[in-house]
Amino acid sequence: MKLNVLGMSFDSKSLRFKLWVYFALFAVLIMVLLWFLQIYFLHYNYEEMKIAETNRIAQALISNYGQENFTEFCANVSSTSDIYIHVEEATGSVIYSPMMGEDTPPAYMYFRELRTTQEELIHSKNHTVSLLLEDATTDYNTLAYAREIESTREDGSVVNVRFFIFSPLYPVESTITILTHQLVYVTIISLVFSLMLGIFLAGRIARPLHNITESAKELARGKYGTVFHGENYTEIINLADTLTYTSVELEKSNALQKDIMANVSHDLKTPLTMVKSYAEMIRDLSGDNPEKRNAHLQVIIDEADRLNHLVNDMLSLSRLQTGAMIIEKKPFSIKEVAESIVQSYAIFCEQEGYSILLDCPSDVTVEADEGKIKQVLSNLINNAVKYCGSDRLVIVSIKTAHGHVRCEVTDHGMGIAPEELDNIWDRYYKASTNHVRTTSGSGLGLSIVKEIILLHGGTYGVKSEQGKGSTFWFELAH
Ligand code: ADP
Repeated sequence: MKLNVLGMSFDSKSLRFKLWVYFALFAVLIMVLLWFLQIYFLHYNYEEMKIAETNRIAQALISNYGQENFTEFCANVSSTSDIYIHVEEATGSVIYSPMMGEDTPPAYMYFRELRTTQEELIHSKNHTVSLLLEDATTDYNTLAYAREIESTREDGSVVNVRFFIFSPLYPVESTITILTHQLVYVTIISLVFSLMLGIFLAGRIARPLHNITESAKELARGKYGTVFHGENYTEIINLADTLTYTSVELEKSNALQKDIMANVSHDLKTPLTMVKSYAEMIRDLSGDNPEKRNAHLQVIIDEADRLNHLVNDMLSLSRLQTGAMIIEKKPFSIKEVAESIVQSYAIFCEQEGYSILLDCPSDVTVEADEGKIKQVLSNLINNAVKYCGSDRLVIVSIKTAHGHVRCEVTDHGMGIAPEELDNIWDRYYKASTNHVRTTSGSGLGLSIVKEIILLHGGTYGVKSEQGKGSTFWFELAH
């Protein structure tokens, strides 16, 4: 909300405005406290404080009376506490008075007050007098305190001793007026200071936030990978780091999306081009030659299969990743599943000189989704055949250990570069070293393996050495 004050417009929700308001409120609070303490307390507490002080001094005088340095003590107290002390015996002989032994007598001698208090003390029943003596001519009032005690002299005779204390009560009104003026100035100055401090601090805090907003706008415009800076504040640095992380992740996801689009369109386009060109070939050239026509039709059928395979893979993966794929666990023999896959390669192996060895000493039962695990094994065996070495050998081994079933598919092909090992499980990833165009290469096979094994709560991985071959494995609970 915009506020208009003296022609300047403020956003009442802005950090700048709010910080200033909080500082101003803080300053006002301190000022109110000061006013209250200084003026209210000064007014009402001054007299009470003075009475308490006078009583305290009287007590000290009485307890010090009779000591050797009593006169010194009296002189000391009267000079430091700005009071007038008079001590005398009931007989009238003065024990201590400010005029005794002092070069300069006090500015004001409390003779009149002494006389009044002496008379009051004589008539007092409890030998204590506490009076507020007002002087109409000057504005000065005096607090008078007197007490009479019995004391034993050195020779054993008893004498009454009277203690008189006079404490001036200065008028506080003038002090209050001065303080009020000072406080008005201090209030104005502190409000101005709080305004400046609020603006300064808000500026310092708002700047990195403003920068972050600008960077976020760039990100929104599609500049992925934008770096956010938080400057000097931990909280803003954390925010900036999180945004930078988001921005980098967006960049990656955007790159992946582009990659996927490129891959999918490429993978769809190649077989479609083949289908089109072979169909044209049949129409224009080989239509009348049954042998050639059949060969060309076979290419079309293979490419259609390849397309079908690719689309099926894409559908499975998307179902797996969106959680739409349901796993139906039942106990089955994984050895039999492996055997049936190896069996399906029999003719191919015979024709092309490949051998797939199955190493599974005993029958092993697992509780899993048979169809899905078959897909996993087929994908791994299919890859091993695709990427196997010149020995054209693929070894499938199934073992049990520690309550787990471990399946391994090993080939002696060119292996995978260590820096690519983590990526091969990503969809559409094809290692740079051994990308071959085959009838089933969708770049999705290993992602499907990963998702299925994860859905079963199993583990998976690969050991690979470049030039020596790879072993892909997965483990399921027994
Ligand atoms: P593709 O259809 O390309 O084989 P996959 O997801 O099955 O897709 O595999 C991803 C990539 O991992 C492959 O492109 C290949 O580079 C690498 N790869 C998979 N299996 C093997 C293997 N047995 N030997 C070497 N590289 C392999």
